[in-house]
Amino acid sequence: MNQPTNSTNSTNSTQLQLSTIKVKSTSGVSYHVELVRPLVAHLEHLAITNNFFKSLLSQYSQRHYLSVNQYKPLERRYYESLAASAESEVIAESGKSKPTQPNNRWQPIFTKFDAAISNGVKNPRIRLGDYKFKLITEPSNRNVGYVYIYHDDNAGYVGKLSAVGQFYAYDYQSQQLAPKLLKLIDNIDAELTAYGHRTGACSCCGRTLTAKASIDLGIGPVCAENFGL
Ligand SMILES: [Zn+2]
Repeated sequence: MNQPTNSTNSTNSTQLQLSTIKVKSTSGVSYHVELVRPLVAHLEHLAITNNFFKSLLSQYSQRHYLSVNQYKPLERRYYESLAASAESEVIAESGKSKPTQPNNRWQPIFTKFDAAISNGVKNPRIRLGDYKFKLITEPSNRNVGYVYIYHDDNAGYVGKLSAVGQFYAYDYQSQQLAPKLLKLIDNIDAELTAYGHRTGACSCCGRTLTAKASIDLGIGPVCAENFGL
């Protein structure tokens, strides 16, 4: 049986104090890393959009440690994120940022998703400008009913919307995007069409548009009906 013994070990950085666990097993001694709170939060953030980190998070949830090789890419992403946010305060834990006041201008997003859900769409999403909006539908997800917003180019998580129209920005930079996102939503139908025209793909499901009517609308026939367009 594995016998973990804890020892505290600092990395070459002063920012993260790591706890390394020595695990003795039949195959010898191996070293594992326990994550400090900011790293767990960052792992949860990365896991939203990245299957590799999703798998790490699930392993970490079960064992409460990572191997050194698993840990390294997480540490790298963590420091990249710190560097990217050097001028702002990093809100390292997704969904823990302070929400904005409820704002009705977000509602057209929910109206589209409500239509899609009532028409049997399992995982409704739409694309406006450079952003993808996704309704969380899994009952087991503590954010069920929220809309996640991603930047389409790099799949970066921007923040989430509550059903009453509060925007929870992921970080300071994402907070600055609210006016831009609201402007897209103000013209939601025109922006859905514009996305289809620009990319040649359905602004709901992302499939390539082929029929002339669909290309003109920027939305495929099935999605157009499901989303009430
Ligand atoms: Zn579609």
